[in-house]
Amino acid sequence: QSQELSQVQIDYHAALQALVEDGTRMVCTGRMHTDRICRFESLCYSTEAEEFVYFHSNSSVMLPNLGSRRFQPALLDLSSVEDHNTQYFNFVELPAAALKFMPKPVFVPDVALIANRFNPDNLMHVFHDDLLPIYYTMQQFSDLDLEARLFFMEGWSEGVHFDLYKLLSNKQPLLREQLKTLGRLLCFTKSYVGLSKITTWYQYGFVQPQGPKANILVSGNEIRQFTKFMMQKLNVSLEESSSEEYIVVFSRTINRLILNEAELILALAQEFQMKTITVSLEEHSFSDIVRLISNASMLVSMHGAQLVMSLFLPRGATVVELFPYAINPEHYTPYKTLATLPGMDLQYIAWQNTDREDTITYPDRPWDQGGIAHLDKTEQERIIKSTEVPRHLCCRNPEWLFRAYQDTKVNIPSLIHVIRQTVKSKPGPKKQKWSGSLYPGKVRDAKCQASVQGTSEAKLAVSWQIPWNLKYLKVREVKYEVWIQEQGENTYMPYILSHQNHTFSENIKPFTIYLVWIRCIFNKNLLGPFADVLLCST
Ligand code: UDP
Repeated sequence: QSQELSQVQIDYHAALQALVEDGTRMVCTGRMHTDRICRFESLCYSTEAEEFVYFHSNSSVMLPNLGSRRFQPALLDLSSVEDHNTQYFNFVELPAAALKFMPKPVFVPDVALIANRFNPDNLMHVFHDDLLPIYYTMQQFSDLDLEARLFFMEGWSEGVHFDLYKLLSNKQPLLREQLKTLGRLLCFTKSYVGLSKITTWYQYGFVQPQGPKANILVSGNEIRQFTKFMMQKLNVSLEESSSEEYIVVFSRTINRLILNEAELILALAQEFQMKTITVSLEEHSFSDIVRLISNASMLVSMHGAQLVMSLFLPRGATVVELFPYAINPEHYTPYKTLATLPGMDLQYIAWQNTDREDTITYPDRPWDQGGIAHLDKTEQERIIKSTEVPRHLCCRNPEWLFRAYQDTKVNIPSLIHVIRQTVKSKPGPKKQKWSGSLYPGKVRDAKCQASVQGTSEAKLAVSWQIPWNLKYLKVREVKYEVWIQEQGENTYMPYILSHQNHTFSENIKPFTIYLVWIRCIFNKNLLGPFADVLLCST
């Protein structure tokens, strides 16, 4: 046995007896396979069949109990990528009595988190699909602590970024291949299966062209809690005091090159009067890159996975993403979406090469590096003539790959001009005052008083108290929005008011019932909830 599972001793006979008598127990969260995470006791895995096994006994539990809907299409997504048909989880069912005829189970004593990594060789995928989701899945379940063990079932080898996965728990993560060395039938004492998707912000274009997720649920705060954890594990300290400001150019050295990098660095240094340094994944350790980026004022890089490192930029910094010829920056926005998440407090700037003269194409490379020699002549010509890659689905669109793997001579004046439209003076981590966006509570004690003048005129005096949380907050501007709706009508009259009372006379009729809706607004855009509707009869 090449893999030590744990120092924790378990009573083998007791464990075996419990498995035979109690079987597998499963309780899940989530209503659909795409938002489900399951907690198991005694989930097993046959390394010969390469299948998970659920043992039925008198005490086993399976919630949800979906019947054959468990296969339509699966019990849950094993990776954080939504509904990907190569990433499904399911199990095979057996009676616990079958254990008599099966290989002796090997018990996994650690609490396990079982999941698939999506693309462990691409840094964007590593952070977005795996590290952040694993970190926050572990935050969701308190027994998934640093002593938990990660099991990666996608079948890849460690990959180039395995050291990053190792930071998430104190135990060595295990890969599917390694399970064979542990035994023929593994039984996880306690395990969680699946990953939270709550932190993901991008969809890669499997069913519709790529773009930000429709309903983003993460803010810069949670991203930064995660990067703080990673930096502690990497032994990178945040140097608050480091005085010198600088720009980082993150370069690629294999493909999608910046051809005039030296010129670019000089120009940036001169324009912003700042030291400008280059880093690359090939020439720097991961910790060094994190250390440099976490204190940088600006990060400049070609579009590509390395830009996910803007996760580590300090608040107030600027991200400058360079796009090769014919690639519309608006169509490829994983890093723009990241930089502009609420509370990330980064400035984002896209620059695109619009000059054919400044691009170098590689039509003769293999297809996966953007070659197009395998296509028919007319298609090759169309692609070469085209000035913009049309929107497309992932992942093998030859026109996209052809353009994505061009090298670019960056037009310096054009780039500086674009940056200067956003960065007016010096770029950089401004010591921002905490502008935490806290929302108002409901207004309180709303009252109305009607007065009727004659048969056609009436007035409605409405008053209310400030939201309860306002007295503990420093808010720049407090306003109130009041909607007045005649009962039974679909329309209403909206008002924005600065005081806690107002007498409405416009369009107020006598002997009518009005519904009055009131909410508080902080700083123009922080809309609170409406208080319970107020019924006012004139
Ligand atoms: N990569 C790199 N230098 C290069 C080319 C790629 O470090 O010159 C890294 C890149 O950051 C990513 C991985 O190799 O983590 C795969 O790159 P690819 O071009 O396939 O993906 P993309 O960057 O377009 O997402």
